[in-house]
Amino acid sequence: MNEDDSQKVANLFLERGFNLTDNIEKSDAIVINTCTVRQHAEDKALSLLGKLRGIKRNKPQLKIFFIGCAAQRLGNKVKSKFNFVDEVIGSKDFYKMENILNLYYERYSSKDIEYPKLFNSEISDYQTIMRGCSLSCSYCIVPKVRGPAISLDSNDIMREIMAKDEKIKEIILLGQTVNAYIDKKNKVDFVKLIEKISSIEAIKRIKFMSPHPLFFTDDFFKLYRKNKKISRQIHLPIQSGSDNILKKMRRGYTSSDYIDIVKRLKEADKNTSISTDFIVGFPGESQKDFEESLDILEKIKFSFAFCFKYSPRTDNPKDISDLSDDEISRRLSILLKKVKQISKDNMAKRIGEIEEVLMLDSRHGKTSTGYNCAIIDSNKKIKQGSLLKAKILKVEKNILHGKVQNEKL
Ligand code: SF4
Repeated sequence: MNEDDSQKVANLFLERGFNLTDNIEKSDAIVINTCTVRQHAEDKALSLLGKLRGIKRNKPQLKIFFIGCAAQRLGNKVKSKFNFVDEVIGSKDFYKMENILNLYYERYSSKDIEYPKLFNSEISDYQTIMRGCSLSCSYCIVPKVRGPAISLDSNDIMREIMAKDEKIKEIILLGQTVNAYIDKKNKVDFVKLIEKISSIEAIKRIKFMSPHPLFFTDDFFKLYRKNKKISRQIHLPIQSGSDNILKKMRRGYTSSDYIDIVKRLKEADKNTSISTDFIVGFPGESQKDFEESLDILEKIKFSFAFCFKYSPRTDNPKDISDLSDDEISRRLSILLKKVKQISKDNMAKRIGEIEEVLMLDSRHGKTSTGYNCAIIDSNKKIKQGSLLKAKILKVEKNILHGKVQNEKL
């Protein structure tokens, strides 16, 4: 979501005659778009601000914008401690960004401006469909800094997608609980929105991040079964395999609810690959709770998992893990080792399978199941953005290698 916001801010600067650079010394304006989900990210943003103090002193005309979740959470602290920052714009005020920039810079016509992409490949683009979150997971401050969930108008979303560069073949829908999307005014829910986007011929693949186990509906499973534009890689955060910890986290589901969703996804398409997030060392996590995370990893055989050490977001003693840092590190490394082994096994199982590959360039693509894939043994000139079927012959260096079966584009 932050990447999508960063792209939007970058475009606002381009419309005002700026070029993008990551050379801080040469910049005329610096935007730090921040995240607060983990303490580490917040610390990094503040430390970067500290480094900018001297640069701003030597170059007073430089403008510094501190935006996003940390700006929302720490706004006053930032304003007083780093008083050289020109604007602190919290995530709830993100919509004011354009007006604020108008105070500083003249806007040019955006008609002839080429918008380079900051992130991802040239053929994929993010599309935010929801902002904020109405859940209250105990370890998360997103609802506090971003506010309750708001679904954006489906007509605006469709307009934005239609206006994207013709190279864009994959849309990644973003929202904290993306599958809870509902535009009540136009009676468009998550399923209807995907149907609408699928009807755009140029769009070959639709991904979404991150769904929440609470918001899967029967209609979604039906759609998933028949609509092959929906990516077969679903990133579904679980956080823990222990019901005891899930309850303490206030995630709202049990491990068996989660397993049931995975079962339904795999019933709809057996090729579905599921990736996830785990938190290790949550307050009260016993050895048994941790082993339940290992068990569910083994059971579901996630294609990949992002594993994080628990990071307390307040000084409240009940938010501090009762485990030593060494113990959390020990558990994390056991989990990571197992994740690595299982992902390797999963990749090896793709050998002999036919995968749908969306081509990022003439030789490399992404499978619908989320793997990088190199095309080998082909004399054909493959177009970027084309969708093809490849038979997987081998795995090397975490990349599937496959031979083209037929070309759809
Ligand atoms: S679902 Fe939970 S973890 Fe995700 S943003 Fe909402 S409160 Fe935070």
